[in-house]
Amino acid sequence: MKLPIFMDYHSTTPVDPRVLEVMLPYFSEKFGNAASRNHSFGWEAEKAVTLSREQIARLINCDPKEIIFTSGATESDNLALKGVAEMYRQKGNHIITAVTEHKAILDTAKRLEKEGAEVTYLPVDKDGLIHPDEVEAAITDKTILISIMLANNEIGVIQPIAEIGRIAKEKGVLFHCDATQGVGKVPVDVQAMGIDLMSFSAHKIYGPKGIGGLYVRKKNPRVRLAAMMDGGGHERGMRSGTLNVPGIVGLGMACEICEKEMETETKRLNEMRLKLQRHILKELDEVYINGHPEKRLAQNLNISFAYVEGESLLMGLNEIALSSGSACTTATLEPSYVLRALGIGSDLAHSSLRFGIGRFNTDEEIDYVGKRVVETVKRLRDMSPLYEMAKEGIDLKSVQWTQH
Ligand SMILES: *Cc1c(COP(=O)(O)O)cnc(C)c1O
Repeated sequence: MKLPIFMDYHSTTPVDPRVLEVMLPYFSEKFGNAASRNHSFGWEAEKAVTLSREQIARLINCDPKEIIFTSGATESDNLALKGVAEMYRQKGNHIITAVTEHKAILDTAKRLEKEGAEVTYLPVDKDGLIHPDEVEAAITDKTILISIMLANNEIGVIQPIAEIGRIAKEKGVLFHCDATQGVGKVPVDVQAMGIDLMSFSAHKIYGPKGIGGLYVRKKNPRVRLAAMMDGGGHERGMRSGTLNVPGIVGLGMACEICEKEMETETKRLNEMRLKLQRHILKELDEVYINGHPEKRLAQNLNISFAYVEGESLLMGLNEIALSSGSACTTATLEPSYVLRALGIGSDLAHSSLRFGIGRFNTDEEIDYVGKRVVETVKRLRDMSPLYEMAKEGIDLKSVQWTQH
């Protein structure tokens, strides 16, 4: 076993060697521009791009022509929300999303609010789930878009997308799904789930960074989008710019591998997560699992360790790559807004770690991480007067702290 260990697969993933292999020729001998119509270099590149669209389409059950390539899920989220807001301005200005969405959605929604849109941020329950009846209740005659993620990047919770899709369809409202953490890990079917627009990204599924896509429904209904980028009219006019052919080839291959191996991989990673979870729960008291116990990604374990600072824990575990309860705002020490939205207090939110288990983790690594987490938490708690007081039966809430 080699150190350091990477167990932060929600932040990014290494490129699978099989993906890298098919990409390499497109950096050198097959360097054509997919938009060059007049020669074989262009045709060769275009053929590779077409194959990639087919590989993606098979994974999510759509028409290959419905894929728009972007630089990643951040761009896809921006294009979906801003593109719909601008194009459907005559119809309305109301968007529904949720408080636990990724910043790429929340910050885009904030921007649109500044420009006059109205946004409803739905709450989640203590398990992190959105209730479809609350989505339905939030719809007004001005609602143009619902945007709900498939799987959460911090707590792995999987939302009831098909139910929300059905409601959107009934009400004639477009439905966008940020499926970046779900595509390739759980079955996705844009038809069965009633999805009209869907964001995804290669680097979360063992493809390269800087390439992703947006599924845009072509019929029933035909979704129209205002472009964010003006130029050569690539990607049905929705996203101008020369295609990143090597990246696109990698994204396609990453999808093909996920499609073939999803079932066995999910089973294997689920076993690994449960093993890690069992070990931690058996060896430590006052630990709490965040997010719904079953409606979650096999790959995700998010745990709060009471009386321990997540940051100190990470420092004690510096040979293991993990995230603390402030995953996407690591620059500031704000507790994670996702954990806070579940009703978790700021102390426990600060005490949490996110384990993102992935394709290249081994059983040996799981055992090592479990052992090191337990010994580090025990060591930090041994130094914690709060933990000692709690163990002595002192109700910490009743303690009068003196201020100096
Ligand atoms: C990583 C991630 C994004 C951003 O994707 P990039 O391709 O890195 O821009 C958006 N949404 C979710 C849920 C993510 O996990």
